[in-house]
Amino acid sequence: MQSMTTTPKLVIITDLDGTLLDRKTYSFSPAEPALNLIRIKGIPLVLSSSKTRYEIEIYRKRLENDHPFVSENGGGVFIPKNYFSFPFPYDRELDEYFVLELGTFYPRIIEVLESIKREAGIKIKGFSDLTKEELTSLCGLSLKEAEFAKKREYDEPFIVEGGETEIEIIKRKIKEKEMNYVWGGTFHHILGNNDKGKAVEILKELYENQFFSIFTVGIGDSLNDLPMLLAVDHPIFLKEKEELLPKVLSSAPKLTLLEGRGPQVWNEAVSKVLTELIP
Ligand SMILES: [Mg+2]
Repeated sequence: MQSMTTTPKLVIITDLDGTLLDRKTYSFSPAEPALNLIRIKGIPLVLSSSKTRYEIEIYRKRLENDHPFVSENGGGVFIPKNYFSFPFPYDRELDEYFVLELGTFYPRIIEVLESIKREAGIKIKGFSDLTKEELTSLCGLSLKEAEFAKKREYDEPFIVEGGETEIEIIKRKIKEKEMNYVWGGTFHHILGNNDKGKAVEILKELYENQFFSIFTVGIGDSLNDLPMLLAVDHPIFLKEKEELLPKVLSSAPKLTLLEGRGPQVWNEAVSKVLTELIP
């Protein structure tokens, strides 16, 4: 007989760059101990990144991960068919996924960014302006990964020639055009009305429907992770010592703040969660 008190199912949602992956080498090997434990315990690990679906698929393979994932800052939520045992609404079917589209159509985003470039007279270079060779030297990606990074659907990362003043002008223009701006840790991003938090809210509902009671852990290192961290039960933020804590996070209950970034810190954080939160 099933007991009346159900242990909540743990669900971990993680950012990739600078969080599970080393910001420069993109390695996750220092996180292997915790990753193995997650696999053994059958804990859903949801990858939530500003990366494209194609890039995330590379990491899902490397991580032997077959859970849902969130691409391009919450633009797309990809759920493997047969993952949840009940029907739910989705926007389209794509290969082995049901896709929930929260983002704005990419050509529209590029159109807006082009108009901002013209109006502001500021030099902006988006991923669509860069060749894969340029992206390779800029991000340290392989040519194949750079090609995948350019296959964007809902979000455009860009660099700006100039300082704070230019960036403030661009932010204001983006807002005027009813789009959103977010800092991803390496690039500025222009996107629609989506964020990682909205994607997490949808996944929470689906997991709750599946497991009845869930406990969500979120891990991130940048401003684009804040909506996701505010949406989970147990937020973990990785930051460098000298950095200031984003204001909105200082009011987040149960926030775990860790110094340093990347897979080593991720491993410590998740190992701790697994030993302390799982009975
Ligand atoms: Mg990051």
